[in-house]
Amino acid sequence: MRKLIALFTFSFLLLIPAAQAQDYFLAGQGPFNPNIPSPEEYLEYPIGSQHTRHDMIVSYLKMLAQVSDRATITTYGKTHEGRKLVMLTVSTPQNLQNLESIKAEHLKYVDPKQSPSNYDALPVFIQLGYNVHGNEPSSSEAALLTAYTLVASNNPEVLNYLENGIIMIDPTINPDGRDRHTQWANQYKATPFVSDPMDAEHWEAWPRGRTNHYWFDLNRDWLLGINPESRGKLNWYHQWYPNVVTDFHEMGTNSTYFFEPMKPIGSLDPIMPKENYEDLNELFATYYEDALNGIGSFYFTKEAFDGTYPGYGSSYPDLQGALALLFEQASSRGHVQETAFGEITFGFTIRNQYTSSMATVQAAVENKATLRKYQQDFFKSAVNEKAPTGYAAYTFVKGTDGNRMKAFIDKLLLHEIEVYKNGDQYSVPLAQPQRRMVQSFFETYKSYRDSVFYDASAWSVANFYNVPYKGQTRNPGGTAVSSTDGITNLKNVPQSSYAYLMDWNDYNAPAALYHLQSKGVVVNAAFKPFSIVTHQGKQDFDYGTVMIPVSKQNMSAAEVYAIVKEAEQSFEVPLYAVNTGYSAKGIDLGSRNFRALEQPKAALLIGNGVNSYEAGEVWHLLDTRVHMPITKLQMRTFSFADLDRYNTLVMVSGSYRELDSTQIERLKSWVGQGNTLITIANASRWAVSRKLVNEKLTQSKDKKDSTVGRKPYVDAGENIGRERVGGVILETDLDLTHPLGFGYTSRRLPVYKNNMVFLQPSGSAYSTVAKYTANPHIDGFISPDNLEQMIKPSASLIVSPLGGGRVVMFADNPNFRGSWYGTNRLFLNALFLGSEISVPRD
Ligand SMILES: [Zn+2]
Repeated sequence: MRKLIALFTFSFLLLIPAAQAQDYFLAGQGPFNPNIPSPEEYLEYPIGSQHTRHDMIVSYLKMLAQVSDRATITTYGKTHEGRKLVMLTVSTPQNLQNLESIKAEHLKYVDPKQSPSNYDALPVFIQLGYNVHGNEPSSSEAALLTAYTLVASNNPEVLNYLENGIIMIDPTINPDGRDRHTQWANQYKATPFVSDPMDAEHWEAWPRGRTNHYWFDLNRDWLLGINPESRGKLNWYHQWYPNVVTDFHEMGTNSTYFFEPMKPIGSLDPIMPKENYEDLNELFATYYEDALNGIGSFYFTKEAFDGTYPGYGSSYPDLQGALALLFEQASSRGHVQETAFGEITFGFTIRNQYTSSMATVQAAVENKATLRKYQQDFFKSAVNEKAPTGYAAYTFVKGTDGNRMKAFIDKLLLHEIEVYKNGDQYSVPLAQPQRRMVQSFFETYKSYRDSVFYDASAWSVANFYNVPYKGQTRNPGGTAVSSTDGITNLKNVPQSSYAYLMDWNDYNAPAALYHLQSKGVVVNAAFKPFSIVTHQGKQDFDYGTVMIPVSKQNMSAAEVYAIVKEAEQSFEVPLYAVNTGYSAKGIDLGSRNFRALEQPKAALLIGNGVNSYEAGEVWHLLDTRVHMPITKLQMRTFSFADLDRYNTLVMVSGSYRELDSTQIERLKSWVGQGNTLITIANASRWAVSRKLVNEKLTQSKDKKDSTVGRKPYVDAGENIGRERVGGVILETDLDLTHPLGFGYTSRRLPVYKNNMVFLQPSGSAYSTVAKYTANPHIDGFISPDNLEQMIKPSASLIVSPLGGGRVVMFADNPNFRGSWYGTNRLFLNALFLGSEISVPRD
């Protein structure tokens, strides 16, 4: 035990002077140019003695670019909170002067039409990415040391790296999250350090620093491209196509260090070339083995983590001809912490990350021809080899929801996927450089080699957007689509003295509706369909159509028009002018089946025990897409909050242990007064178990059977993992006449399930809004027991009465990762139409 403790411990920060502290990291990497300040000299504290704020990281890298001709710095984006996303490029002064021509030569390798063969002549492109999870802070500190070494060292090894490599350092992928954690760790830091794991320093408060401003996991966003951090990075990525990309993380404190190879990929037929996860990973592993052995660090490989999901920082580049590499360091979660193996210090974690960074540069430089040849083969095989489905293209039709289609096309273009248009039909050919991304967007899988996944096993993005598509054996072609301009269905509404109608089908209709409501415009929704003559001729209008009666407003017709026009232009929604209330078919505009809509005044419960991802998804949706304020109501202030300010309360998955019986009674009486409670996923189960509603959960047959057979102990993790629903896409049947189904044109709706919440269909015949179909499995891993016993008999969305109000209960997550454009509307219907939903009794 003593020996082990020595391995994991060092206490230089307290005992040894600064110069030696620096040696702990940089031994053997010098000599250093004395005119270039080290991180320690610049920051005026030893690395590892406190957490470095992102602005100071940027400041240090800027200084390096100023004082040295080995480095340049660029900004590739800005976070939600306005922090800069930067890239420091390091190489020889000569390489940097010729960077544009070197880049042009490099990019020939990602163009399957070209066949350059100067594999060894060009420097290799290495992208070192750090700190995507804000509270895994060691790697950004290692980025400072790596940048310093590459810029200031005159060691022949380092000079060789610069000669043969273009090293691009992104020190902080998630600066908003990092600074949340940095502030926490520094504010609770004590002198001397407190290593007791129970000290506040080691227990960040909700929502913690892992995620970005809206509590999104940026290490899932590379595929979905929702946040500015990932969008900036993806735009950068497709200009540079690095050969090697790193992704540095931290894991639980009671562990060691992880580098690739990972656990074998879970897919039966991975779309990534085998050379990547077999040959290249094994090749690079020898470098990490040597480097970490050299400093006495322990590590493990192969047992954990999988790169099956294509949206990680350590899997996306693998689908772009690069070698992407995951590193996981046991976290010190603060400056020093006791563990079962002795103390782990922040400095120790930084040193491992720094060591791996330098080993990555070495491995890439020494194998640059192999990496370049691999990248070339990757893109050539993308156009030459066929996808296993045998399809030549996928096609889909634009439809009436212009803004949803615009968002989907935007995602395809963000990944440089070629898209063609022919009339209203879009086609995406498989034979293109981004063929593997096309597969990721459209292919679905039901069988897997493995059954336990580190994350979702379903990511067919087309289903996220509810875009029905077909595989085609012949490529229909068309005109190349280069932007999302002109995809929406603007109708250029003229002024009317009678009424305006807004199609509720468009993704942005709720944003436009909120805009109208916030300006004091009275709006109604159609609870039955009709046809009427508009400025665009006779049109059919579906359930949910928004009607703005001109004469019923407290403002002039010109003022109403100005606001309507503003809504149309800001949100690009289809709006129509009508000059009569008499319909050609269906209800007239004066019908009782038009209901006046109340403006939503919404609150979202947040705080301890609440799933911050799901809460962040609600906040993000309303902020960035609907432009509607929602109060983030903390659990600890709930007991004295005046609930009468709100007509809608949202509860996402959470334990809600802090709500005692008094508070639950208060919540019930508030709903009973005619308000709407929206529960998502585990909050729906909570509502059932706390008897807010008179509904039931689907029971597993296994639970009724008390006999248990014997199984090998070692299989427990795998067996239990298989029964989890990690993330699966299921087909539901939606009641289009229910207010929660308004705006949809097809009863078939894919939903996303990543929980164990199974609701029985409601006791009321009219309240099961969405139910899984007889054959609901679309994509992703699910065990046969879960599918047959739990999913098939269950409901996905029900409404339950509570006094004069209602509880809208989602079994699934309609807002998953900000990218479920297909099901967002169900949630927004609950917000905007909630007050008009009654629960009829048979
Ligand atoms: Zn992480």
